[in-house]
This record gives sequence, structure tokens and C-alpha cells, in this order.
Amino acid sequence: MSPRELATDVVRRLRAAGYEALWAGGCVRDQILGIPPKDYDVATSALPEQVRDVFGKRKTLAIGQSFGVITVLGPKGAGQIDVATFRSDATYSDGRHPDSVSFTTAEQDALRRDFTINGLFFDPVESRVIDYVGGQEDLRAGIVRAIGDPRQRIAEDKLRMLRAVRFAARFEFALDQRTLAAIQQQAHELVIVSAERIAAEMRQIKMHKNRARGMQMLHAARLLEVVLPEALALSPDDPWSPESVADTPWRRTLHILHRLDQPTFAVALAALLREIEIADPTIVDLPRRVYDRWKLKNDELDGVVKVLAEEPLIRRASRLPWPRLQRILIAPRCDELLSYCQAVAAVLDTSTAEIDFCRQKLALPAAELNPPPLITGEDLKPLGIPPGPAYRELLEAVRDAQLEKRIGTRDEALELAKANWRHSGTC
Ligand code: ATP
Ligand code: MG
Repeated sequence: MSPRELATDVVRRLRAAGYEALWAGGCVRDQILGIPPKDYDVATSALPEQVRDVFGKRKTLAIGQSFGVITVLGPKGAGQIDVATFRSDATYSDGRHPDSVSFTTAEQDALRRDFTINGLFFDPVESRVIDYVGGQEDLRAGIVRAIGDPRQRIAEDKLRMLRAVRFAARFEFALDQRTLAAIQQQAHELVIVSAERIAAEMRQIKMHKNRARGMQMLHAARLLEVVLPEALALSPDDPWSPESVADTPWRRTLHILHRLDQPTFAVALAALLREIEIADPTIVDLPRRVYDRWKLKNDELDGVVKVLAEEPLIRRASRLPWPRLQRILIAPRCDELLSYCQAVAAVLDTSTAEIDFCRQKLALPAAELNPPPLITGEDLKPLGIPPGPAYRELLEAVRDAQLEKRIGTRDEALELAKANWRHSGTC
């Protein structure tokens, strides 16, 4: 059974038990746009307990029950479907979450959703769209429009501002004028939203192929100055299109972002920060500031720092001492680094000869490019070196010596480790 068949089956079974049930939200939108939905959500008049009765306790999960969501487990391979009871949200006093929810009708459930394009239902049994909010028209016209009064909807939940930009960028839609004006007015209130939620939206905007457009819309919505005020150093008012000339820091940044092919978040973020560091050298440790602000993962910070630091090295790869380059090529994320350099070179109109040189070297036999380490941590214990942080340093130094061909055997490696340990004066 496919996820789609499961979603249809869930609707049929709820109907057979006497409840209303429809597909809701993103899956309806995507289907109308001709995009295969990522997942299917079902909305129903059945209360959570009733949903559990229909499918059986063992075939359901009640993790989201307090806000009306029961997860129905499908047969093998079909995945699972979230079944949400039609609800309306009460007042939002914290600018992010409703104070309470109450169960209600399909129409009220549509009205509590964020944008008209996300407020549609679909009846998979009769193949019929149910539209209480004018979502079909906005899908046709390509508009992201808040349902109801945009100022109020954004005041309720500030995260909707970033969601609006994300959907507009992803589908290449325009932001409805009143929705845009409401976002511009309240953009500074985005600070109420948790760093993690902001980062989650930024990741989605930056990893989608329309990321350059996303950045442009963030700026137009006055959100860029809230999430990344340092970007103002790029003079982001310069108009950009994929055809424009890469002649200003902002245009160069967007062109590089546009060029990246399925980048990791770290690479996309590096591309965004690259020109800021050049435009405003007084900003100290920009990647770490962004990492702290958005509470990013360590791995993401490492990636950004690495890519920014090593791009200039790749640009003169053929002139680096070979072991130096070798270490760069065999380190994790080398493919990310090279694809980033490729995009930068394309935009700056510089030669890709050095990148090609790296790729040639990467094709060397593994034993030459990345010979197995001569010793591991296990070999250090018998030398009387107590396990601890020193291990990493000692092993790195031995590895350096191996790659630089200063040593070639296990015995030489052990000797070097011992000498370095003695030299560190800690024994
Ligand atoms: P995606 O394809 O990115 O998952 P989606 O439309 O499915 O898009 P979700 O965040 O998965 O988005 O949310 C599912 C549905 O729940 C949305 O289509 C929308 O109707 C509603 N929704 C989600 N977040 C909000 C919100 N902050 N305010 C109001 N409605 C929301
Ligand atoms: Mg979704």
C-alpha cells in the first residue's frame, strides 16, 4: 500500500464509522500544483479517542493527542498518517502558540490555518476539493495570502512570517500586498520565536533550490535585518535576477547561492556569509555569531568555518605542499568544499583549473591518497600514556608525519608518539 492509498483508506474507514474525513493542508496544495506530496494529513470530525477506536489502540500513536492529533500506523511500507480532529485555536497570548484549542467544524479548521494555499481540503473518495478560503484561486494566481486579517494572523504567531517567505520562495509565488505589509510591520517581533524554530525555517529556505529568491524575499519582508542584520553590509536593495551581472556584493552572494547544487546547509550558509566578511571586515567571528544566534548544530558551524577557511587554499591547490592539500582532500566534507568553490568560481568568473586539479588528485588510488593510519589509540595505551584528550593530538601529529612521509612504519610512528608525549611534559 502506498502512502497515498493509506491516506485514502484512512478517510474511507473514518467515513464508514460515521465521521467526516478529508485530506488537509500541504498535501492538497501540492497535489493541485502537480508536486508529489511529501506526506498526507487527514482532518476529521472524529475526536482523538474516536479515531483510536476506529483504528485500534495498537495501530495508533497518541503522542499528539493533547492538540487533537492521532497517528495512524499503516501496513509495512505505507508509512503513517497524522489524523487531526477539526479544531479552532483560541487566543494566542505568547505570539507563537494558541492558549487552548477546541474541536469544531471543517470550515473553522480551515480558517485557523495560516495561508489560503494551505487551507484547502480534498475528498479523495469523490475526488473533490473543498475550499473555504479561496485557496484554489490563489494557487492559480501564485499568491501567498494570509487567511483573514494578515496583521492579526501574524500577531498570533510570528513564525508565520518566515513560513510565508518560505512558501513564496519555494513555489515562486508572490506575497499578497497586505500580507507583505503586515510582515514588514511586525518583522522585528520575530525575535519572540525560538532560535530553533527560526533556524529550522532558515534551513528549509537555504536548502531549497530557490534559496536566492528566498533571501531576496526575506529582505523585501524586512526579515533579513532581524535574522541576519550583518547582511545589511551587502546593500541588499540591489535588484537581482538569475540574469543580472554579479557586480555587487549582494548580487554576487545571490548568484553563488543560486549556483549551488543541492548544498548542505553549512555550504549555503557559508555562501551567504562569504561576502559579508569581505564587505565588513570589522565583524568578528561571523559564523560563530550566527551559530549562537540560531542555536545551530556544532557540525553546521564546523562546516561553515571549514568552507570559508579552505576556499582560498583550494584556489591555489596546485601550489600547496602536497601533504597539506592531501589533508584537505581526505578530510570529511571535501565534496562540499569543492562544490562550493565551483559555484564561487563560476560567479567570480575565475578559472576552475585548481578545482579540477583537486578532483584529479581525489581519483588517486586510496592507498596513496589516504593510506591507513600507522597506529590507533589502542597502540598508545601500552606506551603508558593515559587515555584522554592528548590521544587525539598525538595521533594527529603522527598522521601528519605519515602523510608528509617523514615516517613510514608502525615502529617509527610509536617512537614519534612517545617522543611527543615526553616532549609535552605531562608524563
Ligand atoms: P510542507 O510541505 O513544508 O510540510 P505543509 O503545508 O505541509 O508544508 P506543515 O508545517 O507540515 O506545512 O503544516 C501542515 C498544515 O498545518 C499547513 O498546511 C497549514 O494548514 C497548517 N499549519 C502549519 N503551521 C501553521 C501555523 N504556524 N499557523 C497556522 N497553520 C499552520
Ligand atoms: Mg507538511
